[in-house]
Amino acid sequence: MARGAPVRDETGQIVKWFGTNTDIEDQKRIEEALRQSQERIRALIDSNIIGIASNEGEEEVLVEANDAWLHMTGYTREDVRSRTLTRVKITPAEQAPLFERALQEVAAHGQHTPFETELVCKDGSRLPILVGGVTFQDRPRQIVAFVLDNSARKELERRKDAFIGMASHELRTPLTALKLQTSLLHRQLAKQGIQASVPALSRMETQINTITRLVEELLDVSKIQAGRLEYLQETVDLDALLREIADTMQQSHPSHSILVHGAVRASLLGDRDRLGQVITNLLENAIKYSPDAQTVEIDLNASPETVTIRVRDHGLGIPREQRDKIFERFYRAAGPRQRVIPGLGMGLYIVAEIIKHHGGTITVESAVGKGSTFTVTLPLTRDG
Ligand code: ADP
Repeated sequence: MARGAPVRDETGQIVKWFGTNTDIEDQKRIEEALRQSQERIRALIDSNIIGIASNEGEEEVLVEANDAWLHMTGYTREDVRSRTLTRVKITPAEQAPLFERALQEVAAHGQHTPFETELVCKDGSRLPILVGGVTFQDRPRQIVAFVLDNSARKELERRKDAFIGMASHELRTPLTALKLQTSLLHRQLAKQGIQASVPALSRMETQINTITRLVEELLDVSKIQAGRLEYLQETVDLDALLREIADTMQQSHPSHSILVHGAVRASLLGDRDRLGQVITNLLENAIKYSPDAQTVEIDLNASPETVTIRVRDHGLGIPREQRDKIFERFYRAAGPRQRVIPGLGMGLYIVAEIIKHHGGTITVESAVGKGSTFTVTLPLTRDG
């Protein structure tokens, strides 16, 4: 960079020049690198492989969006320029808690874990998306969001759910007929005094009952997904229910002693069969996942407001990192000992859903190799 300044005499005539020459090669190199990186960022945004949008300030007004984003949502450049696309406007109200959590994460860590949500498109339709965001600038706060169209995956999920619903429905009809015919045959043969076939028929009936349970569980899972699981409202004598289930389970599972401690001495309003399903499932798991133990225990407690049912086993236990996941749909623990034990990962999902419907909670404490305790707490009186 060259600079020059004239030196003049009293009459204003230039008599000398002062000049400097500075080497600015480094500065030029930095400028060029900056220009190139800005071009690359621009090219990345304009590549339109994924939607990119940035929003600003408290209301999270959309201030920039690439073509991919506009194409997905149907909004135009003019809509963006008008600065009217606030977060409230372009996201469904019920998704607000998800966005608020993401914002907190952004504030704390500068970015948030991508999550599934929806955008409200220009025509009012909803677009399933996967979104991840990073802080771009602090004041005013500007966040850049990377948005993937998630509709193909959601559609596949929806079809899979519909399939599970239809399949369980279709399987149930022939199963019911099979069950009926088998017990008819059982009775006829017994009447004719043909004893030799009775054991084979009994084994058939046991297997049919196992399949029926699995199909019923599949149907329950699919109804829960669709928000269509129905519940009765009746007065349930919990002690009687628990003892009945413990007796039945004791007969079908002679490998373990089922010990019941305490009593709740209370009734609650709910669905007897569904609550029974909860206890049966927890007991079955306790037995199934403690192959080397002799006992499983049920502890009953009550306070004026709640009843607490604990199902305790002395079995394999559940590693800490899996304890939240076991209540998710189709989740099965992957340990080598668990894997050989049959199951489809539906039981605890259904259990958690039934308990939630009754206003209660379920938690688990566990020590690997020592055993697990599932604690169900149910309120005795419920509002609404
Ligand atoms: P399933 O038993 O059919 O796999 P569940 O939904 O009942 O499905 O349970 C989910 C997972 O939680 C199981 O695969 C198992 O790994 C774990 N689990 C459930 N109950 C117990 C238990 N009492 N002890 C150890 N692991 C358990």
